[in-house]
Amino acid sequence: MSVSAPMADGGVVVAEQVRLPDGSRAECPAAPLLAGSLQREEVPVGSAVLAAPPPGQEATAQALWLPLPADNGNGAPAERTAPAEAPSPTAALALATADAAALPTARSTLTAWAMAVRPRTVLLAAPRSFCAGVERAIEVVERALARRPPDSGPVYVRKQIVHNKHVVRRLEERGAVFVDELDQVPRGAMVVFSAHGVSPQVRQEAEARGLKVIDATCPLVTKVHHEALRFARRGDTVVLIGHAGHEEIEGTLGEAPERTVLVETPQDVADLEVEDPERVSYLTQTTLAMEETTQIIAALKKRFPSLRGPGSEDICYATTNRQHALEAIARQVDVVLVVGSGNSSNSMRLVELAGRAGVPAHLIDGVGDIEPHWIADAHRIGLTAGASAPPALVDEVVAALGGLGPVQVHEHRTAVEDVYFAPPKEVRA
Ligand code: SF4
Repeated sequence: MSVSAPMADGGVVVAEQVRLPDGSRAECPAAPLLAGSLQREEVPVGSAVLAAPPPGQEATAQALWLPLPADNGNGAPAERTAPAEAPSPTAALALATADAAALPTARSTLTAWAMAVRPRTVLLAAPRSFCAGVERAIEVVERALARRPPDSGPVYVRKQIVHNKHVVRRLEERGAVFVDELDQVPRGAMVVFSAHGVSPQVRQEAEARGLKVIDATCPLVTKVHHEALRFARRGDTVVLIGHAGHEEIEGTLGEAPERTVLVETPQDVADLEVEDPERVSYLTQTTLAMEETTQIIAALKKRFPSLRGPGSEDICYATTNRQHALEAIARQVDVVLVVGSGNSSNSMRLVELAGRAGVPAHLIDGVGDIEPHWIADAHRIGLTAGASAPPALVDEVVAALGGLGPVQVHEHRTAVEDVYFAPPKEVRA
């Protein structure tokens, strides 16, 4: 195989297209899968249009090529790595390298993905991806960036605006500056609070530093803050069910720290010591697993029969809908892929939910994280995304899977979402 673009210094070039001897081109939709595998092996990766060898001629030792005709998918890997017999395959996997050190990795990568070539069905859980709170938070930063006067300095954002690295990177590219704490923000500057909310202590610090605050806290998180205050003011011990260290929990705990205790498991409930067992109420993080939370609430009710809870459940509509949607497809698939970042609570809960249904499940930040052995034998793949994961990432996964053979996509919808949260007044038109 010759290479029609300059080879990177060392490393491997992954074909984004293959130019065939008859002048036509084969697409390489699975290129991001190969690139991801190589990057995990710390091999530098480039992309280019590569030229296929003429019919009957083997690829060179430095170039590896796997044609995928339209009806591909059931041959053995050995057959699939042979030179093209069909003159114009519709798709291909191809790599090239001038780097002898990288050749074994390139070869093993292509072989591993060759094993994953087959026709498949993808079951898309719906709803999935962005919720109203995440869309609002992103919109707040975008509007703040668009409206800042030219010489007013950057827009600072305390913590990740939502728990997704792609969203954060895109906003950084547009000029947002993400900080961990407010002491990293210059006095008087503009700062956005993330969708997960902040404690009153953070608000006080912002005021003391003269910061111009735009609050992107999800209204459903704010609702939990108000409940925490209300329950604490009536003298209850407030049992907050959630995960220690999560930003939402830190913010909610801060509303009434002297009256609030955190529990994460039914065992924590057994160990609880409260001032007055007749005056106990509970709240939950918005992004918990419904099943586990139900168990913890049941344990609380058993220990404290007078337990009082929120007027309506705190686990939000988006978390609930995404869990129901995945539950509906989990037992029909061989493997589940959840698009989302590792610090996204609701994405992690989706992975756990699939695991409880007995299906192997993997969290991926993007298409490049998929490992070939996860899906090599999978005829049916379940695909969903956490509430902070952009929908385009799901589309990229579907497109890449289409580069491993014909894919039938079926969406299974269990709810229609029409929730919209207006942006705060500071950035309204
Ligand atoms: S997951 Fe729920 S609580 Fe969190 S931002 Fe989305 S709607 Fe709001």
